Amino acid sequence: MSMTNWAGNLTFGAARVHRPSTVDAVREIVAGAERVRVLGSGHSFNDIADTPSDLVSVAGLPAEPRIDATAGTVTVAGGVRYGELATFLDAEGLALHNLGSLPHISVAGAVATGTHGSGAALGSLATAVAGVELVTAGGELVRLERGDPDFAGSVVALGALGVVVGVTLEVRQSYTIRQHIFEHLPRKVLDARWDEIATAAYSVSLFTTWAGDTVDQLWLKLADGEEPDGFGAVPATRPMHPIAAMPAVSCTEQGGVPGPWHRRLPHFKLEFTPSSGEELQSEFFVARQDAVEAFAAVERLRHLVTPVLQISEIRVVAADDLWLSPTYGRDSVALHFTWIKDAARVEPVVAALEEALAPLSPRPHWGKVFHHAARPSRLADFLALRDRLDPDRKFSNAFVERHVAAE
Ligand SMILES: Cc1cc2nc3c(=O)[nH]c(=O)nc-3n(C[C@H](O)[C@H](O)[C@H](O)COP(=O)(O)OP(=O)(O)OC[C@H]3O[C@@H](n4cnc5c(N)ncnc54)[C@H](O)[C@@H]3O)c2cc1C
Repeated sequence: MSMTNWAGNLTFGAARVHRPSTVDAVREIVAGAERVRVLGSGHSFNDIADTPSDLVSVAGLPAEPRIDATAGTVTVAGGVRYGELATFLDAEGLALHNLGSLPHISVAGAVATGTHGSGAALGSLATAVAGVELVTAGGELVRLERGDPDFAGSVVALGALGVVVGVTLEVRQSYTIRQHIFEHLPRKVLDARWDEIATAAYSVSLFTTWAGDTVDQLWLKLADGEEPDGFGAVPATRPMHPIAAMPAVSCTEQGGVPGPWHRRLPHFKLEFTPSSGEELQSEFFVARQDAVEAFAAVERLRHLVTPVLQISEIRVVAADDLWLSPTYGRDSVALHFTWIKDAARVEPVVAALEEALAPLSPRPHWGKVFHHAARPSRLADFLALRDRLDPDRKFSNAFVERHVAAE
């Protein structure tokens, strides 16, 4: 039976799919394979995880979460999903600094692409990583920790350095978040007060179709001590879905009701499993200070964008030092597009967006639909690291050759 990604827009071309249940089995498979790629939970929208050769799914490795209270970390298997990890941590009174919008995504897969939530002071999920345990090309088990010279190259690594079998993440004491939603933020206010809006809460998201003279929704996820300010938008009087016309039953509790971090930071409930992906996604990162120009560039293309768009989300992410990260060295605004599931209509619009944003040096989300990725500033360091860990490019694939290996 053919195997697809979550969205169903990619059928994996792997000759063999392995589902090892021990690290030793992973080592054996890698050592014996000529070419190999790793599959997380398959939530990427492009061929980043694909290969014509051997594909290793790490979903079957035992989760084995281990807390190190002294170091303030938890170590888990790479295939563990954020939802499971969050539930485990919360029961221990612990938390992560942030979460993405879907709890079903694997930790190693999310980290490998620089997956993020929102929050001006919050780095991507990869910035919580304090150590990675990798099975490298010869089947060796290698551990890299923050502070090692190569560490910053080994976290957002697109699966090109080896199989991440263990990830150590920084944890903090559990905390409470309240979620307030506002509708119809005047578009002009977004431009005029962008800096204030971007920093108005622990985590801020805006949802828009770019179509009118208001932004559809402003979602504020407030930490203790923060007060909601809608900047002239109207407080929602009912539970909201990011697409206002959709029922909000799947959404996390709103209306300012305090709740644990993992039941407020994701927009959707942990127990809600979207059955299939009737969508495609793209996302572009530009400097947070260039956000207003970026909004204008998208709006100039609204005649192309809106007909193929379900919804856009605007988020902010703090800069990091991870070599291939789309938020490397730059506090960023992330412009996300949930498209209709029609690649033939969506791809030309993505190309037009890339061209329109080009003066702002956009960086794509590695796991979503894009055509062009600017050369990462630390690419040479990353390729040197790859040459040391994987001199024969066992872990490469067409995606990696296209976007990061071409000098
Ligand atoms: C509904 C939905 C919501 C999303 N929400 C967000 C969001 O809020 N924020 C955001 O930034 N992104 C979001 N994404 C994108 C998603 O987080 C990324 O595509 C992420 O990389 C998917 O993780 P995965 O485990 O499915 O990885 P896969 O898609 O399976 O793989 C992605 C990459 O990770 C590598 N990889 C996976 N596991 C390992 C491993 N164990 N060792 C080494 N390499 C590995 C693969 O080789 C590949 O290169 C969303 C996607 C969907 C479908």
